Amino acid sequence: MSITPKLLPVMIQASVHAIEQNAEEITALDQAIGDGDHVVNLTRGLKALQAQQEELGGLNDWPSAWMKIGMTLMSTVGGASGSLYGTFFVTMSKAGRDRDMDLTVFADVFKQGVESVKQRGKADAGEKTMLDVLIPVAECLARSAEDSAGLSRVLGALPAIAVAGMESTRNMLATKGRASFLGERSLGHIDAGAKTMQLMICAVVGVLCDSTSPS
Ligand code: ADP
Ligand code: MG
Repeated sequence: MSITPKLLPVMIQASVHAIEQNAEEITALDQAIGDGDHVVNLTRGLKALQAQQEELGGLNDWPSAWMKIGMTLMSTVGGASGSLYGTFFVTMSKAGRDRDMDLTVFADVFKQGVESVKQRGKADAGEKTMLDVLIPVAECLARSAEDSAGLSRVLGALPAIAVAGMESTRNMLATKGRASFLGERSLGHIDAGAKTMQLMICAVVGVLCDSTSPS
């Protein structure tokens, strides 16, 4: 099966499931160094996407789907994370328009999405945010495209990279978002937004593995 927006309903479902399964742990993380609402915010967005999943799955191209996803997340998630998710998908949509989607193009589109999150959040790697997952994932995609790695190799590599990025936030000092108000007390806790980003990336990669592996 080729990778088309037809996979979106199952990708959304897998993401909802991953967040639900880990909701208590993520809320505890966000209570430790944030205000504890991250799962509620994100779940509101994911449920809105679930309500649109048939329509999303019927779209013919990824840029149209990313635009709709971005607009939905922007208007439903709220918090600091809502506008960052929104910007990410809207930028990917614009960057991917009228291009044939292969790994090289996707790596470039994803990178532009990550750059837009950096700009919107005025943040970079090492500041204990979702970017500590997004940036290494973008770099892995770029490296894989450059090496002409096959899809199964890329999909095999991404989960460990996302997990390592998430884990790396534990010993970072937060300098952006609410956690930055805590200074050194933010040390020792994983960032909630990095954790949810890792979970969703792993969920989507899992769907791609299932749908692209020869059976
Ligand atoms: P809020 O912080 O407004 O309550 P959420 O709880 O939904 O919003 O999201 C918090 C998450 O958003 C953080 O864990 C972090 O990963 C991410 N985040 C916050 N500020 C920034 C920023 N400036 N740049 C990138 N990510 C950020
Ligand atoms: Mg919060």
